[in-house]
Amino acid sequence: MAKKQFKAESKKLLGLMINSIYTNKEIFLRELISNASDALDKLYYQSLSAGTSGVQKKDFRIEISTDKDLRTITIRDNGIGMTGEELETNLGTIARSGSQAFKLESEMAAEKGTPQDKAKRAIDIIGQFGVGFYSAFMVADIVTVTSLAFGSDTANKWTSTGADGYTMEEALKADYGTEVVLHLKDDTEGENYSKYLDYYTIRALVERYSDYIRYPIVMDGSTMNSMEPIWKRQKSRVKQDEYNEYYKSKFSDYADPLRTIRTSVEGVSSFTALVFIPSHAPFDYYSKDYEKGLTLYSSGVMIMEKCPELLPNYFNFVRGLVDSQDLNLNISRETLQQDKQLQVIAKNLEKKIKRELEDFLKNDREGYEAFFNEFGRQLKFGLYDNFGINKESLQDLVLFYSGRQKRMITFAEYLEDMAEDQPGIYYAAGESREKIDILPQTEYIKSKGYDILYLTDEVDEFALQMMMKYKEKPFRSALSEDMSQDETEEAKEKLNKATEEKKDLLDFIKDSLGDKVSEVKLSPRLTSSSVCLTTKGGLSLEMEKILNLMPDSPGIKAERVLELNPDHPVMEALTRAYDNGSEEGKKKVKRFASLLYDQALLISGMPLEDPLGFCKAIDEYISG
Ligand code: ADP
Repeated sequence: MAKKQFKAESKKLLGLMINSIYTNKEIFLRELISNASDALDKLYYQSLSAGTSGVQKKDFRIEISTDKDLRTITIRDNGIGMTGEELETNLGTIARSGSQAFKLESEMAAEKGTPQDKAKRAIDIIGQFGVGFYSAFMVADIVTVTSLAFGSDTANKWTSTGADGYTMEEALKADYGTEVVLHLKDDTEGENYSKYLDYYTIRALVERYSDYIRYPIVMDGSTMNSMEPIWKRQKSRVKQDEYNEYYKSKFSDYADPLRTIRTSVEGVSSFTALVFIPSHAPFDYYSKDYEKGLTLYSSGVMIMEKCPELLPNYFNFVRGLVDSQDLNLNISRETLQQDKQLQVIAKNLEKKIKRELEDFLKNDREGYEAFFNEFGRQLKFGLYDNFGINKESLQDLVLFYSGRQKRMITFAEYLEDMAEDQPGIYYAAGESREKIDILPQTEYIKSKGYDILYLTDEVDEFALQMMMKYKEKPFRSALSEDMSQDETEEAKEKLNKATEEKKDLLDFIKDSLGDKVSEVKLSPRLTSSSVCLTTKGGLSLEMEKILNLMPDSPGIKAERVLELNPDHPVMEALTRAYDNGSEEGKKKVKRFASLLYDQALLISGMPLEDPLGFCKAIDEYISG
């Protein structure tokens, strides 16, 4: 029989599993039971919606048996089963889209460092994908899956010994459903695999990880789980640990959730919700493939795996379920959006999540910052989305880096730390904190005793511009040309006078730079630097950069202003050359202007428009 190869990315994950850097091997059982339970759910739901006869929910079960002589453990379900094709696609490829595969590839390639580092990376990678079926290979050296899809008449068997591929063949199986047989690895010094052949070990694992599974998990004739959904159990009797286990098994995560929200609402739309805030973003979180949503149950029966209408986009990282007896069982994707009950539930839940996050921020700052590091970007997108309609709900949940306090702060904390008469909340957008820190423009704002928020995420400046202000304090870019509100009358007058004096020179520089800049002026804010580049109007250089990275960008350009330091020796040199009046002098000013403009671009972290020209000019300058 010809061996078929796993897709490259599956092979890598498999490799991780086989060499099992993952310490918590026993969770393989939980994963296989969850898969069996999902298969039963699917069959039940299909029989409900299609009115299939012959399916009796009371017969649904998950059976576990072991054979000590053969060293096998078998997990059997009478769920929906898989066709041969499904066996291949579901088990042969774990990464279902190209981008996921790519991510894995690059992460594996980047794997450097100590064995501990590597182990941690491996766990991260496994966790991002969900532990899933491949976890079987942590304890087994041969895995066979025999399955008969419901309604089909040929069964198939998939066999794999791990990374060298798998085989497929037709098989005999009388009843629909799936049977997974694991041949356990030999025991080693550090690892006892034989224990999984023992009834009491299995029973303890089922009780620990799979108690809530709503179908009987049977071994040697006895049912090992209580089958009570965790969200239906009396609240006071469920421990956090049990929620954590439930979360991890349901969402195939290796890490406990950061927060758990369980809430019941009685009224027009009664519902119970159990939702979690994960500790880390799944690998595809910021990609198009990510689907938000909560699992929807109607009186304990799963009717939809991921119902997107239950979560606003900015809380799309939340995972969990909603159970309501008031829902129409035949709810479909098409009628979802109009469903009033669902809307009421979603609104209600949104408030609960918001309150939970506020509480999180207030009572566990460190935890919240870790959360924000993972999901903050989504909250900021929420501020920007729909023309800022959700500003009120989100503005107190976002954090930005404070240049003065050197930590992440809220807008409210910014206000607390600022003088009453400060004209606004200052920010500067750039590629990194370090780059923003050295901008000559920020120097001036800092010298006035104002703090600056450093914006380093692409969405940041867009979000702030959409908000316009926080508690009546307008947001002001430290990199914008307009400084009028920050200057004293005296300083303004002095600058006006100097500008008057240098008017011809400034005009000449502007002319020689052409449409590269829309204005050349003397700057009130430069101390040690000779020049800087600022912008006029809403569009900043950073925004220009971001917008131009987008596909089909029309080539947007921010309105640039070249600001010159009136007190810098460079200004003297320019004046001297210009006042000389000769052609030679003018040529010199022209050359200087172009160099200064390029210099300003470099300081701002912008690419030079003509790098070769710049180099030539420097060469000329050096050679005199
Ligand atoms: P996940 O369960 O997270 O999707 P897995 O790797 O555990 O990922 O499983 C891959 C897929 O294989 C499942 O989504 C399901 O379609 C299928 N599958 C696994 N086990 C079973 C089973 N016992 N019965 C039917 N289908 C199954």
